[in-house]
Amino acid sequence: MTTLPAGGGAAALLAACRLVSTDPEERARASVDRSGYVPGGVPDGIVYAESVDDVVEALRLATRYRVPIVPRGAGTGLAGGSSATAGNVVLDVSRMNRILSIDPVEQQAVVQPGVLNAEVNAAASRHGLFYAPDPASTAICSIGGNVATNAGGMWCAKYGVTRESVLSLQAVLADGRILTTGRNTIKGVSGYDLNALLIGSEGTLGVVVEATLRLRPKPLRTATVAAYFADAAAAAQAASAIIAARVQPAILEFIDGGTLAAVDAMMGTGHAIRGNAFLLAQTDGYGALLEQQVLVEAITPFALSIEQTDDDARAAELVAARRNAIPALQLLGRVSIGDIGVPRKRLAEAVAGLAEISARTGVKIFVIAHAADGNLHPMVVVGHDESITEGPAKAALGEMFHLARRLGGTLTGEHGIGVLKQDWLKEEVGGLSLELQHKIKAAFDPLGILNPGKGI
Ligand SMILES: Cc1cc2nc3c(=O)[nH]c(=O)nc-3n(C[C@H](O)[C@H](O)[C@H](O)COP(=O)(O)OP(=O)(O)OC[C@H]3O[C@@H](n4cnc5c(N)ncnc54)[C@H](O)[C@@H]3O)c2cc1C
Repeated sequence: MTTLPAGGGAAALLAACRLVSTDPEERARASVDRSGYVPGGVPDGIVYAESVDDVVEALRLATRYRVPIVPRGAGTGLAGGSSATAGNVVLDVSRMNRILSIDPVEQQAVVQPGVLNAEVNAAASRHGLFYAPDPASTAICSIGGNVATNAGGMWCAKYGVTRESVLSLQAVLADGRILTTGRNTIKGVSGYDLNALLIGSEGTLGVVVEATLRLRPKPLRTATVAAYFADAAAAAQAASAIIAARVQPAILEFIDGGTLAAVDAMMGTGHAIRGNAFLLAQTDGYGALLEQQVLVEAITPFALSIEQTDDDARAAELVAARRNAIPALQLLGRVSIGDIGVPRKRLAEAVAGLAEISARTGVKIFVIAHAADGNLHPMVVVGHDESITEGPAKAALGEMFHLARRLGGTLTGEHGIGVLKQDWLKEEVGGLSLELQHKIKAAFDPLGILNPGKGI
């Protein structure tokens, strides 16, 4: 039997690990992510891992002393997944931030979990390659966090989400054993797909310590379209028309009028005077200009004005409007970021349904969306001192979920369940599925010490 020193298991773990902090300010910072969710307390301490051995050591001790561990990358999550409270120890892997190798022939990169998403792209770019999953948070989020949330982004319209770009992983299990999943080949079906299982598991099954990523050839050319509409309904109809025209944009983003005004206020741009809703589309590859023409023809009946460019600098300015949408809204108040997915042809109904919820409840809802894959981010904005986990904001989240379900959709397209969406998970996946998921969790983590209360 293990005898615990005064202060309990967490204190024992923190006393034994190499690089730790119990500084109150650092603990307060490590208690939250970017979701606006504020847990009741702060973690007992933080272990900073600089190597796989550090992670193994921390998890062995966590098993020995039964300490709940919260894996943390860059802390930019939007579902409370890396939030931590009293009795927890945060395992911060952000210092494991090296790109270990890039193989331009196989088009692969091997990276540590703390490498930022944008750094992978910068390194790949030197070989004429790119890493496709590009969350709007690319400059500030880590690959480990991207894997744990199965992050998506703008280019996912054409190239798929994180799961489509991760070939292999190394993860440390709760008891300190190292599991390797997947393989370095493009194809492979030996055994169950534990690689896919770890991706999107929100730090509940293992701590990712290395990832082999699939890179792709950088398109030689891109063509960008910015289209402005009288209202959100017209823009949503235009997005559906693009899909119906069978063109495949690499980017197809929707921004509503309120969000455009917030972006203008933050960036000094002038989008909102050109319309009450905005679609940003980008085609790429050898046929970029041809596809652009088909796309423009499809949306012309719905648009007030359309700007077309193949100038990279102008395209970057237009893309920045979307990348800055969430930070711009966060200047207006505390933001609860919804993340529903609907079948793509039902985008216009989803946008109309959100407007109806806002009008009926009086809750302010702004909408941005990855229109090509039907993934909407309805953003509830409340006062800086108001709660997003109870009262009207919580009720609005529930209503959005039921809207998505009515339209044949899902509770979360890319941000994960975290703590914020626990209440509706069973309704979506069903009792049997959830029971099996808890059995899988128990097989990986029998003591339930890895990110308890998150994900499932
Ligand atoms: C402005 C802004 C824009 C955003 N845009 C997008 C977007 O377009 N698309 C999108 O998908 N997301 C977006 N996000 C959300 C967020 O950036 C992603 O969820 C990202 O993948 C989180 O990465 P992170 O390193 O910050 O993870 P963290 O917040 O640190 O952790 C997220 C989850 O992953 C787990 N985790 C972290 N590292 C590991 C690891 N090494 N092993 C196991 N588990 C781990 C944590 O326990 C937690 O459950 C946005 C966030 C912001 C603030």
